[in-house]
Amino acid sequence: MEKELSKFQGILQCKCPRCRQGDIFENSAISINFAKTYKNCSVCNLRYERILGFFWSAMYVSYGFTVAHMITLMVAINVLTDQRPALWVFFVAIIGSFMFFVPVYFRYSRVIVLYTLGRIKYSNDPKVWEQQGE
Ligand SMILES: [Zn+2]
Repeated sequence: MEKELSKFQGILQCKCPRCRQGDIFENSAISINFAKTYKNCSVCNLRYERILGFFWSAMYVSYGFTVAHMITLMVAINVLTDQRPALWVFFVAIIGSFMFFVPVYFRYSRVIVLYTLGRIKYSNDPKVWEQQGE
C-alpha cells in the first residue's frame, strides 16, 4: 500500500480526491495534451466529472488564478523598474508568462473544484468505495 497523502499533497500531485492514489490527468503538465482528464480513477473508479459540465465551474477558479497572476506581475514590473514602463511591456510580460502557466492554472483549477465542490469524502478503504457505488 502506498503512503497516504494529505489533502494538500493530493491537490499538489493531482491525485484522486477519494483514494489519493489514482491520477486525475493522463499526461504531464508539460505535455501538449496537458488537459486530458481520466473519466474515472484507475484505483477506486471514482467518476471525476461528477455531473455533466461539472468542470465548467473550474473556470471561476482559473479566472481567480489569472487575475492574481496579472496583478502580481503588474506590481512586480512597477516595483522592479525605475521608470514607468510602456503599456506594451505589460502586455508582453503577461501574455508571455501565461504561455507557461496556462497548463498549471487549468489543471489546478480542475483539481481544486474536484476537492472542494465534488462532495467526495477521502477514504483509503475499498469497502467504502463499493458502498459509495462509483
Ligand atoms: Zn481514486
